[in-house]
Amino acid sequence: MTHFKPSIFPFQGPLVCLFVMLIGSTSILFGQNKETFAVKADRIITGNGQLINTGTIIIQGERITAAGKTGEIKIPTGTKIIELKGHTLMPGFIDAHTHLASIDNDGGDLAALKETPAHGAIYGTVNAKKTLEAGFTTVREAGSLGYVDVALRDAINRGLIPGPRIHASGPALGTTGGHADVNGWSPFLDLPGTGAIVDGADGVRKQVRLNAKFGADQIKIVATGGILSVGDAVGAPQMTVEELQAAVTEAARLGRKVMAHAHAGAGLLQAVEAGVASIDHGSLVDDEAIEAMKKRGTYLVPTLIILEEIVRDGEKKGVPIYALEKARKIAAERRIRLKKAFQEGVLFALGTDATSDIHGRNGEEFQYMVEILGATPMQAITIGTMNAAKLLGADHDIGSLEVGKLADLVAVEGNPLENIRLLEKPAMVIKGGSVVFNRQK
Ligand SMILES: [Zn+2]
Repeated sequence: MTHFKPSIFPFQGPLVCLFVMLIGSTSILFGQNKETFAVKADRIITGNGQLINTGTIIIQGERITAAGKTGEIKIPTGTKIIELKGHTLMPGFIDAHTHLASIDNDGGDLAALKETPAHGAIYGTVNAKKTLEAGFTTVREAGSLGYVDVALRDAINRGLIPGPRIHASGPALGTTGGHADVNGWSPFLDLPGTGAIVDGADGVRKQVRLNAKFGADQIKIVATGGILSVGDAVGAPQMTVEELQAAVTEAARLGRKVMAHAHAGAGLLQAVEAGVASIDHGSLVDDEAIEAMKKRGTYLVPTLIILEEIVRDGEKKGVPIYALEKARKIAAERRIRLKKAFQEGVLFALGTDATSDIHGRNGEEFQYMVEILGATPMQAITIGTMNAAKLLGADHDIGSLEVGKLADLVAVEGNPLENIRLLEKPAMVIKGGSVVFNRQK
């Protein structure tokens, strides 16, 4: 997915030297496994809804070369074996809605006055490691000012820092005065938005092209109002139909999908009809939108943890009162609507909206899917692996434990089909055939 082209990078020479110097030091270089080894566990959940009791996976370099029932898989003599007695192996988890560059701060929307994308890159470096160690080997970034997500992705792909595979968005596209803008201030202050502020179909097209030019893997748009923004109702449409269509058409022309922030109402339905790949949040998705999403195969990324935590802990965390009120107002109805969408067959993909202190706790989303959506533990795991891989257009490489795919694996102690919360504490994480986290150590 990387758009980084080493051949045109001006510092290619020195970096190649650095690369050679660091080889052999696995604590510094990540995802460079060249060995063959086997992992054995009490059970394997494949990501396709299959359960294999006593399974073995063989990994060669960064890919899976065999997967199946122990005893039916031939392990070549001399192969190193990792025995995970009492454990369950799954594909690396995928979070389809993160904001790695964000962190707890006391500034609220004043953070924009005090911080730059350089702060975000440092926070993102810390958060990327936490996310990976939580078992999330891939994330889809949902809007990142200053293209911090692109920089993180490239640094991770080059082995400079540990972190998940990143599908970057660059800045989210939002309209003047919308959820991605900063509102409620004097017009004499020139405040930057939290995304790229665009108006009109031409403005949208230009920004889609810029995002693609600077390395975005997908395009994030803000189709309706939000919780953490001033003066907009969560269901208020913020992009015109023309703007929505321009985003989807231009992104498609450039080989990219569109993810849409949308909570409710006409703005949500119009985004679906314009052809976005996913509706993110979808808090008050109505019956008409449920039908349209089923018909089109639009994914819903429900970001359950963020709103549950705003409602529960927002006050002590300093969430502004207008945002708390918005969140509380929709909380009960949201549970009903999202459950209905899931039960009626809308495709779901896991996404947390990880911001502030949620980084590294992404796995708690699984429990909310069971509790709120009524998903079985097996369904929840599929939503957080294969479904999310399909949404990202990456299911040829990730999302399930199958021969030929990248060896991204998570092991947890015990059986998550009996206790979903076990997914919150991985024992081991393997990314691209390299053990990147081992709790025993
Ligand atoms: Zn978000």
